[in-house]
Amino acid sequence: MARRYHGSKWDSKREAILKRDEYKCRHCKRYGKVKAATMVHHVKPVDQRPDLYLESRNLISLCGTCHNMMHDRDSDALTATGLEWVQRIWGEE
Ligand SMILES: [Zn+2]
Repeated sequence: MARRYHGSKWDSKREAILKRDEYKCRHCKRYGKVKAATMVHHVKPVDQRPDLYLESRNLISLCGTCHNMMHDRDSDALTATGLEWVQRIWGEE
């Protein structure tokens, strides 16, 4: 069945990242926990860096709980934890 829809590039990238991270949450891993990743997070938000949308370095696999910790529930801005990952992946800029 031919299925064509918007964002198929993202879907294949997302799959590649999950595979790279062995389908495990990267944030949980920092604390020695093993949890299945259910999504891929943009370390630098897409609205700030649309050029990094499909950049592997900017993508990490997370579980739903950890992903909720990355973004402020109201503003959607990065939380301290989210910013920590920016630091971790991209360092000082
Ligand atoms: Zn997690």
